[in-house]
Amino acid sequence: MLDIKPCLVIPGTAADLASREPGSKLGFEGDKAEGKAALGPLNVRLAELQTRLWAESRQKLLVVLQAMDTGGKDGTIRHVFKGVNPQGVHVWGFGVPNETELAHDYLWRVHRRTPANGTITIFNRSHYEDVLVVRVKGLAAEETWRRRFGHIVEFERLLADEGTTLVKLFLHISKEEQRQRLEARLEEPDKRWKFSVGDLEDRALWDEYLAAYEEALTLTSTEHAPWHVVPADRKWYRNLVVSSILIQTLEKMDPSYPPEPDLDGVVVG
Ligand code: AMP
Ligand code: MG
Repeated sequence: MLDIKPCLVIPGTAADLASREPGSKLGFEGDKAEGKAALGPLNVRLAELQTRLWAESRQKLLVVLQAMDTGGKDGTIRHVFKGVNPQGVHVWGFGVPNETELAHDYLWRVHRRTPANGTITIFNRSHYEDVLVVRVKGLAAEETWRRRFGHIVEFERLLADEGTTLVKLFLHISKEEQRQRLEARLEEPDKRWKFSVGDLEDRALWDEYLAAYEEALTLTSTEHAPWHVVPADRKWYRNLVVSSILIQTLEKMDPSYPPEPDLDGVVVG
């Protein structure tokens, strides 16, 4: 299992994204083939823990995934959750808010998708967009998005107090890696559907997004809802790190099968 401590944004300290290397494969000696092979046993372990969580039905896990465009959110979900029972895992993507969503406060659409007992919910983008894209694109006044940092910390405290474990993951890619991934989307026919011209506008705002992430991660990494920064230029390494973080989190939650009912004398007729 990888040592994931270096990925943690220690609560109360700066996220310091500039000093974190997106191309790192810290703690893993092997090459890509070995890295890919190492994911299999982690998939099995995650599935075991998820089965226990589902059977126990007393705890719940929320995984918040954030990244720049092409950062690998979809691929991470596909690879890391391979083999889990789909019945107990939900994925919610949050795009540009629709009219109904905009008619409510920004946490409304998010809160109704948080996990129930026994389940894991993955947010593919999240309420953090309301202090990221909203900030960078000027969709709300600064006083509006700035006070959201406080709301978010308290909202996540509410979830934690009421029994949800939170794991927040920022998939950290370099600008050069994003260039290559966008080019691949343009050039490879089976990737072209993912290309959006809007991504180029966001790419031009790379530094602004990074600054927004830096502040968001710094101000909202808490004991009850910590952020991890995942080196994500290498997809196979990213998968190993995310998988390891989730396994270690679930091991701490230690879900157990419910007590066996007294079945003495029961016969299937
Ligand atoms: P995708 O993740 O490719 O499906 O894209 C979803 C898009 O929705 C991204 O460009 C996000 O920045 C955008 N988005 C998500 N949440 C919000 C929000 N609260 N306000 C504005 N845009 C958002
Ligand atoms: Mg975009």
